[in-house]
Amino acid sequence: MTSSFNALYQCSCSEQAYELALSMIDEAFGAAHCFVGKLCANVTEVQTVAYHQDGAVRANFQYPLAGSPCADALKSVDVCAFGDNVADLFPDDTMLAELGIEAYIGVTLRDVSRQPIGILVALFDQQRTFDQVDEQWFKDLAFIVAAQARHDADLARKDELLAELSLRNIVFEQSKEAIMITDNNNRILRVNPTFELYTGYRESELKGRSPAVLSSGQHSPEFYYEMWRQIEQMGHWRGEIYNRRKSGEIYPEELSITVNRDANGQITHYIGLFRDISEWKENERQLRFYASQEPLTGLLNRRSFLEKVEQHISLFRAQEQHASVLFLNLDRFKDINDLYGPEIGDKVLIAVALRLQNCVRNHDVISRYGGDEFTILIADAKPGHAHRCAEKVLERIHQPIRLGDLSIELSCSIGIAHMHSDTDSATVLVRNANHAMLSVKRAQSHSIAVHSQEIEAIYLRKLKLRDKLHKLLRFDGLDVAYQPVIDNQSGRIVKFEALARWRDEELGVIRPDEFIAIAEEFGLVAILGQFVLRKALADLAWIHSQGYNDISMAVNRSASEFNHVLHPVDTVLDTLADCNLKPSCLTIEVTESVAIHARKQAEGVLNELRSKGVMVALDDFCTGYSSLSHLIDLHADYIKIDKSFTQQMLSEHKHQVVIASVIRIASELDMEVIAEGVETQQQQQQLREYGCHFSQGYYYSPAVPLKEAMVLLAKHNGDVQRPNEFSNIGSKSV
Ligand code: C2E
Ligand code: CA
Ligand code: CA
Repeated sequence: MTSSFNALYQCSCSEQAYELALSMIDEAFGAAHCFVGKLCANVTEVQTVAYHQDGAVRANFQYPLAGSPCADALKSVDVCAFGDNVADLFPDDTMLAELGIEAYIGVTLRDVSRQPIGILVALFDQQRTFDQVDEQWFKDLAFIVAAQARHDADLARKDELLAELSLRNIVFEQSKEAIMITDNNNRILRVNPTFELYTGYRESELKGRSPAVLSSGQHSPEFYYEMWRQIEQMGHWRGEIYNRRKSGEIYPEELSITVNRDANGQITHYIGLFRDISEWKENERQLRFYASQEPLTGLLNRRSFLEKVEQHISLFRAQEQHASVLFLNLDRFKDINDLYGPEIGDKVLIAVALRLQNCVRNHDVISRYGGDEFTILIADAKPGHAHRCAEKVLERIHQPIRLGDLSIELSCSIGIAHMHSDTDSATVLVRNANHAMLSVKRAQSHSIAVHSQEIEAIYLRKLKLRDKLHKLLRFDGLDVAYQPVIDNQSGRIVKFEALARWRDEELGVIRPDEFIAIAEEFGLVAILGQFVLRKALADLAWIHSQGYNDISMAVNRSASEFNHVLHPVDTVLDTLADCNLKPSCLTIEVTESVAIHARKQAEGVLNELRSKGVMVALDDFCTGYSSLSHLIDLHADYIKIDKSFTQQMLSEHKHQVVIASVIRIASELDMEVIAEGVETQQQQQQLREYGCHFSQGYYYSPAVPLKEAMVLLAKHNGDVQRPNEFSNIGSKSV
């Protein structure tokens, strides 16, 4: 027997050893069944790893331990043998009865610490006595088989360990994060290649040293104390830290340190994970810059400016420190951009930023608030100082900006808002300064306004009117009234001037001067102009249809309309065609100042319209930029003398002289003159004497609805053949 045991030691693998052991049992005992089993399922079952039946190899199986003789065998330290009746002794083990088992012998396989790991069993279908020699033989065999099983288990664990180790190694070697492992004394054991790359140190240079070698000196001892306190208490720490590379360069990194402890809770290692965040930090710095600064001028941006103002509001409340906000808007900056291009535009903005910086004290805050808008916070100063500052800014901005050969003239409008005890937010203060700025920008530009309740009320009304006008125009809700123009020779009406009328349910009558200005400011004037044109021409067509077919129509146009409409000439001609009217039936009235200011666009459109037969009148002549030389330059069919001139004609001699010469020169230039605002018979008499061609004014009639205009026609132009009655009056169908 000893020799066969030796054979067991020579087996090349455990499977072979188990087979041999079972064959030895077959040979020695002639067992009906024998097997080597391993404990599994938390020691509740046995899984055979080798099984013989009647000396032949059979497929492995698994069986529950509970109620089986093997459960007894596992509990006994020695061999467990039952010579007969084993099936009756273990009725719960049904397999025993099924197989007709009479006798049983089993020995537990144990590991080095005597813990059971498996079992070696032989079953007999006949009674059997097991003597001491048999039992000892079984025990010896089980001892060798157990050694084999232990080896098996070790191997399996080793494979697992190896797999885990190689996985750890891969992670360690390949990690994009730098890893450093130190021992329980915080001496460096290992670092990975990424760590070497980041720090410039080789692992061999660091082994055994303290991580303090990387210290940048940027953190206080308290910082490290707190870090280590957390590591000890919580087992980990995470934060941003500045370290030093081998080259001396200091760099920011995100560091997380984790403690590794053994089964007894003793610290075995510290594992540090580092991520170089220099790039992030740079991005963050830039983001912070862009978040607070405006990149072109380097001034603060809107958000940061508001924050500063907010801080000063708190100061004002706490210490009554006065502060004011200046809101500056460049006049006609868009023209500069359009004319010279955005690059020059940018340079102008930079120059303005510089000039502003030279106008204020160091602790005042300047921002580029929007495109051509700048804001200045005049801190800790009385209102008078803010006003002087605004005057200085106005003057400095007005000085020409020289860019190479180019000299650019600028002007701006400034609104001021002072901090009050009831100033509740930065946005309100800046908005007030903005409203003050807007109140002067429209009216005169290049001037200063201080915010007040009146300014606020005007601004709010403006916004209200803008919204109402918007709605009104969408539903063609405006009215048009007609004021007759009388031929001074015949006394007949030759045309009507169409004047827009707006009566609002809530606000009453809103004067055209007010709503036209709003329409211009908010880009609604083109829609308004087109509406009036359509309505007036449709009404004129109706007037013609009533037999008054020599009457023409005058319509006012703002210069900005010509810029806003895509095809201004076609639009006018198409509307005329829609109403079956000749172009000569229409006079377009433009103000002289407009004709001069937007000369290029407006003149081009007007000339083209004239070439198609449309008449052009220069409105409000003798106001604004009037000059006789302009009169010669501009091609128009009519000149309209402004009502302010007509009305002072009798009292002011120089007005008479001007009117007389305008009429004379106009006649020589083949233009006809219309006097506006004729209110009295004397005025009318005088104008006739000067040879003025046409008159318009309350003396004859104010602007009236179409129905009343028809009555005027009947009165001045006599009864004509009328195909229709007045009842169905107007142009609603167009
Ligand atoms: P405007 O073109 O100079 O129109 C003449 C203005 O003088 C009208 O004022 C008219 O009602 C007023 N008027 C006429 N006769 C007399 C008079 O004898 N005495 C006095 N004191 N005033 C007289 P309204 O209708 O208030 O229009 C004001 C301005 O609004 C117009 O001045 C015109 O520039 C503008 N406007 C009116 N309708 C339109 C329109 O449809 N489009 C455009 N772009 N502007 C319009
Ligand atoms: Ca007019
Ligand atoms: Ca006028």
